[in-house]
Parts: sequence; structure tokens; C-alpha cells
Amino acid sequence: MQLGNLIDFEVEGEDGRFLPRLRSLSHLGFEWMYDRNRLMLWHNFIQKFEPHLKDADELDPFYFDLLLDAAKRWHLQNPKRIVCESYIRLLDFEGRLYPEEHCYICEGRIEEEIALMQAFKPAHPYCIYAAALPTKKILDFFKSKKTVFLEDHEVDILFDTVMKGF
Ligand SMILES: [Zn+2]
Repeated sequence: MQLGNLIDFEVEGEDGRFLPRLRSLSHLGFEWMYDRNRLMLWHNFIQKFEPHLKDADELDPFYFDLLLDAAKRWHLQNPKRIVCESYIRLLDFEGRLYPEEHCYICEGRIEEEIALMQAFKPAHPYCIYAAALPTKKILDFFKSKKTVFLEDHEVDILFDTVMKGF
């Protein structure tokens, strides 16, 4: 199977509305498609769009532009950072960003350490038994939509949260 076809297939979904534009995307032939690790990460990333968008009546160009922007940068930096930065833009676009300093579970104030649930909902690390991240850095990331001030191991935690689903 050709790499381009693999990408098409993964985003086709049940009705294929996402397909035509993504097919043109894959035909641009990004060089990272021959990098096994980057291709696998791309595959994992776009797979999350299918269940998320399959019930949408109309697909806003935002999603295509977001993926095109990600694809253009995919070979330039750690793709996990691109996933996190793309996802935070998606949450913001969909009005699902909770830049709160209160825990989604217990509603108590979050102090120095924060943990993120699915959809990056803030919580106390002990309320969701999840890895602790520095609150200030995470709230800055929510504002700037950039991971530049986050360490790689912090990005790994955010990436794993994104991979739980949009
Ligand atoms: Zn809590």
C-alpha cells in the first residue's frame, strides 16, 4: 500500500467527506512520509480526527488548515509538540478550552501542580491519579499555544493525553 493511500484511508471515515481534501494533502508528498517514526505519529494523530468529526454536518476549513500547517512543520520539530500545539488550537476553535485554575473533579483551586484530563480539562494530580505538571507553564501554554517552554517529558504527558481522544 502506498503511503499516501494509507493516509487517505485513515481519515476517510464513514461518509468520506473528509477524504477529498486530505487526499490532495497527501499528494503533496511530504518528505517525512519516508520517516517511519514520523509517519507513525502522523497516522496516530489524524486517526483521532475521524471519530471526532464523523458526526459533523459540515467540515469547517479550520481542520484542513490545521492539518496542512502541521504537515508542513512535521519534519522541522518534534511532531509531539506539533500535535499538542494543534490540539490546543482545536480546543480553542471549538470553544472547549478550560483555562481554569479550578479542578474539574473537586472544583478546588489548583496550586503549583496541575494534571490534565481528556480535552485538557484541568484537575488536581491526586484527583485523577495522573502525572503532575507545573501549573504556570500549562496555563501559559493554554494562552500562547506554544510548547517552547515545556520540557520534552512534559510534552510527552500532554501528547499521551491528546492520544486518549479529542
Ligand atoms: Zn481536585
